[in-house]
Amino acid sequence: MNKKYMAEPYRIKMVESIRQTTKEERITLLKNAGYNPFSLRSDDVYIDLLTDSGTGAMSQEQWGAMMIGDEAYAGSRSFYRLESVVKNITGYKYFMPVHQGRGAEQVFLPQLVTHKGMYYLSNIHFDTTRAHVELAGARALDCVTECCYDLKNYHPFKGNFDLELLEKTILEKGKENICGIIMTITNNSAGGQPVSMENMREVHKIAKKYGIMNIIDGARYAENSFFIKEREKGYQDKDIIDIARETYSYADALLMSAKKDGLVNMGGIIAIRDDKCLFDKCRTRAVAYEGFPTYGGLNGRDMDALAVGLMEALDENYLRHRIDQVRYLGDRLMEAGIPIQYPVGGHAVFVDCKALAPQIPYDQFPSLAVTNALYIEAGVRAVEIGSLLLGRDPDTNKNIEAKLELMRLTIPRRVYTYNHLDVVADAMIHVFEHRHELKGYAFDYESPILRHFTSTFKPI
Ligand SMILES: *Cc1c(COP(=O)(O)O)cnc(C)c1O
Repeated sequence: MNKKYMAEPYRIKMVESIRQTTKEERITLLKNAGYNPFSLRSDDVYIDLLTDSGTGAMSQEQWGAMMIGDEAYAGSRSFYRLESVVKNITGYKYFMPVHQGRGAEQVFLPQLVTHKGMYYLSNIHFDTTRAHVELAGARALDCVTECCYDLKNYHPFKGNFDLELLEKTILEKGKENICGIIMTITNNSAGGQPVSMENMREVHKIAKKYGIMNIIDGARYAENSFFIKEREKGYQDKDIIDIARETYSYADALLMSAKKDGLVNMGGIIAIRDDKCLFDKCRTRAVAYEGFPTYGGLNGRDMDALAVGLMEALDENYLRHRIDQVRYLGDRLMEAGIPIQYPVGGHAVFVDCKALAPQIPYDQFPSLAVTNALYIEAGVRAVEIGSLLLGRDPDTNKNIEAKLELMRLTIPRRVYTYNHLDVVADAMIHVFEHRHELKGYAFDYESPILRHFTSTFKPI
């Protein structure tokens, strides 16, 4: 076991205390939160695995860079520093900062919707991407490989496009009705599963063949590059940055939430290969929604922190440790017989709650039951990804049954140690050993939209 996982490639210079509560306190805290972990205060959470978005720790170099941020409204030095890093990694000609990933989406995605009845095609659209596709009047279709829904069997690249399905969909809908192809790396909604370079190359060929724009949703492109190095033939001796560069060579634009592989708490990126007309249109829209094009809703100091963070996230030692942490937690749970998505992806471990608590029907939310039991056991906050998140059918108003009932244990970047992960694993094993006692939940209050955030529940 000693040799299997890599120790933290950093030492700790500044600490943030976290508070352990008693089980009795947590029972009351959860009840007061309406049995919805989103309503818990961060102070009442011991280990917070809600998300890896904007929750990472910055390095001394990033904090140092913040001191030289240039807060000029126009033409900030920080902008030019960030621009040069983004161009260096992507090879693209045009760059614009935005406040976060969805800022990039709201500025960029409507530009390619030119008439009624159009579609974006993705391996899987992330939630906010889908929302912005639909707000722009288009529809979002997913063309992911079928093996993505097989939780048990090993496949190195479960995030891939199904190439046949992609081409079939283009022919079926008509190439003039496709706004663009969105390559999401890693595939967030598929559990942070990677996409192979071969798959990206083939998707690019298909895009070129039909004259369709190819866009990378690159929130976790560095993690994806690491998986390629580890798993894809011919990439073992390549530098991560060169793998990233090849990745961007197979697309025409990048939209990125910098809250993940940008290693910052807030920020986003639009980069465009060479389409000046498209870039000008994006700039016009960005001024109205995000800010002047040389700050895009960010402080100068944020842009400097991001310029440094982007390069740090491509460091192989950092990435190996990051992916190792996720693998460590996954391995500990699997060794105890807990059903999880295998292999684990880049940013989280997904527990299969349908298999773990089959006595709870989907509309009593098995993953919420497991998530709440884990919080009560050890003050660990995870998140439900299942039928509660999915919502109701707008026509019949019935609860939709999710294909998978998952609980996500999301690992923030550079924040927790292996000892923290042991606390999580031990608590999860306890929940697993008492799984037959788990009971479902009914709504106390059901919020009409995005119900998982604000609804309250009562135990059945
Ligand atoms: C997080 C994320 C987004 C949205 O980014 P925000 O910064 O949260 O607005 C879009 N796509 C993917 C793949 C993401 O992971």
